[in-house]
Amino acid sequence: MRVTWTGGRLTFRLDPEDEITGRASDEHPVKLATNTCSVGGVPDDAHPDLFAVAAWTIVAPWTRRRVTFDRAISAGLARALHDGWGIEAGPVGAEPRPAGRTLAISYSGGADSVAAAAMHPDAPFVHFKRVPHPRVPNRWTHYRSDVLAKLAERTGRELTTVTSDLEFTLAEPRPGYPEHHAVAAGALLLADRMDLGGLAFGYELGSRWLGGDRYLLRYTPDNPMWAPHGAWGRLFAAAGVHIVLPVGGVSEAVTMRVALNSDLKDHVRWCLRGTDGPCRTCEKCLYKELIQAAVERRPLDTPITPDRPVARKWLRPPPYGGQEMVEYALARIPGIERTLFAKALDHFEATEESTSWLDHCYPPALDEIPQPWREEAAAFVGEHVGLMTGDEARRVETWGAEPDEEARSTR
Ligand SMILES: [Zn+2]
Repeated sequence: MRVTWTGGRLTFRLDPEDEITGRASDEHPVKLATNTCSVGGVPDDAHPDLFAVAAWTIVAPWTRRRVTFDRAISAGLARALHDGWGIEAGPVGAEPRPAGRTLAISYSGGADSVAAAAMHPDAPFVHFKRVPHPRVPNRWTHYRSDVLAKLAERTGRELTTVTSDLEFTLAEPRPGYPEHHAVAAGALLLADRMDLGGLAFGYELGSRWLGGDRYLLRYTPDNPMWAPHGAWGRLFAAAGVHIVLPVGGVSEAVTMRVALNSDLKDHVRWCLRGTDGPCRTCEKCLYKELIQAAVERRPLDTPITPDRPVARKWLRPPPYGGQEMVEYALARIPGIERTLFAKALDHFEATEESTSWLDHCYPPALDEIPQPWREEAAAFVGEHVGLMTGDEARRVETWGAEPDEEARSTR
């Protein structure tokens, strides 16, 4: 792979052994659409390691053996690419970038990133805004990146909005980040200007420790995307921008509760479709309503009926993505047996007691937060959430490992 940055424009050329089909770090298959993209609103004189990491978030799935950058990188960064991916990277020759002092938040406006923001009230925001790609038609016009950017502006927090068409480099499964970390491409290029030493993401307990998101149901202490000692954690650290997961130890029930109790509650928006508010009819709205109803201990409020396509997956047996939250919600929502989740209920015997571990913070997640920001996060957790007991922490560590009878029910 040959990578060239011209200002904020990235062009990459595949080597003969590279392929346009690949897998992201979470094993999800992806297919390349085009080999150029831009990142706007960033300086063009960032440290070469920052350009390299930003490019790697986009080209990693297609690269098989080597990556050649247009400017020399540090030996430490080349080593992180080699150790993490088995890739030869060069040319080598730059001094390493020292870590900065500031923690910024990669801010999407969703409940998880709002909760991360609440834990670090002085941290500036970097918001990624999707813009059209000049060479790829946008078949995803319902995605309202303009609405999300406006909501981010209204938070009153120091905000830098980065614009990018990098998601259109992906043909399949749909436009999106080639690697989850591509959302940070702009923040990386801003790291020198903002003196960044850390970038906080709103990945919560499920994504960090329970193999959530695109994986299902297994304890993942060595999560390659988000563990500090994983390939990506080491790569970011080599560029002096640590990956920080303020809410990595808490469930989506906790992030929802924290977000709805925060100063930013009027700006929370997880739906990418609605303009005046969440659309209430998409898959994500349904899942978040499930969690919110559980947190607020009220009946489910959704216009979605069981015959709708988005309801279909809940009529099938588990496993489900975010299964820990499904169990949590089924155990708490009054009248859930009269909703489209009635069928799912047949597969679980979750109770409030058996799911109460999801109300507390998994302590090792706080230990992973780099020292400059750990105390602030731990103080917030101490005041607003509370730590898991040893027994509760074992629920995390045995997630997905045990037979059904013991694992997630109290028969
Ligand atoms: Zn929606």
